[in-house]
Amino acid sequence: MIISVASGKGGTGKTTVAVNLALSLNNVQFLDCDVEEPNAHLFFKPNIKDRKIATIPVPNIDESKCNYCGKCRDICAYNAIAVISPDDVIKNGSILIFPHLCHACGGCSLLCPQSAIREVNKEIGLIEIGNCGDIQFVHGRLNIGEIMSPPLIKQVKEYINPIRTVIIDAPPGTSCPVIASVKGSDFCILVTEPTPFGLNDLILAVEVLRKLGIPFGVVINRSDIGDDKVDLFCQENKIPLLMRIPFDREIALLYSRGIPVVEEKKEYVKRFQDMFDLIMSTITEIKKEIKSISMGEIV
Ligand code: SF4
Ligand code: SF4
Repeated sequence: MIISVASGKGGTGKTTVAVNLALSLNNVQFLDCDVEEPNAHLFFKPNIKDRKIATIPVPNIDESKCNYCGKCRDICAYNAIAVISPDDVIKNGSILIFPHLCHACGGCSLLCPQSAIREVNKEIGLIEIGNCGDIQFVHGRLNIGEIMSPPLIKQVKEYINPIRTVIIDAPPGTSCPVIASVKGSDFCILVTEPTPFGLNDLILAVEVLRKLGIPFGVVINRSDIGDDKVDLFCQENKIPLLMRIPFDREIALLYSRGIPVVEEKKEYVKRFQDMFDLIMSTITEIKKEIKSISMGEIV
């Protein structure tokens, strides 16, 4: 069972929900895929047992073989290669690779008619693996200045342990890193707040999850501030409301000290367990619906 925790915007309490859900369950693995700014470790304080450098393959040109035909530049959708062909003015030609723009698709090396391109590994970040008590913990840290977070997220997800309940803390937003994080999840928890910004970003996140075909529900954090438009949106769109977390100065203080809520406010353990039960029954209902639709199609 893979449950990802995402939010259309940062600062909604996504990591709070992910960490406290993980600490309220048994047999859990936690993956922090917010690789640009991982912060779940501040709460888990994991015992790191292994570290692995994350790399992506980028092209390296052997100019002694290159005839500057430009085919590699033309295939590259990300403008990561510049080729200056030799002519009457420039006798020797030139080729330049911009590794930060490269998406490691491998297209250029496949297409080069001169076999002048070989792939070399470029370091993009670090993966750390450890544990916090019984919880298995994995997170990625993207190198400063690096922009290619999806390959690092995919490498973090290679550590998924299928015999555990896997909680994935996804990055905020609705772009490629979020999709790389939530893809393959059985369920996604969307954390939002009851404000116009929260609603706007929730609507975008809902669209993404519908396109990906991932079942989801909503947690409203700081639920007693703002307005009721998020509630109405969920009602109108039949989106399960999984939990409300009120604005609480004590929770904010615990967060600022890196202390999980469930450690100090034990009543939240049951609340997160109840949310997990609700997620499981929602998934069961969805599976039943899919089964009855496909049975109907067969009949
Ligand atoms: S495709 Fe090969 S030969 Fe042509 S410019 Fe690129 S590296 Fe050189
Ligand atoms: S591997 Fe793909 S993205 Fe990278 S330079 Fe080659 S064609 Fe462009």
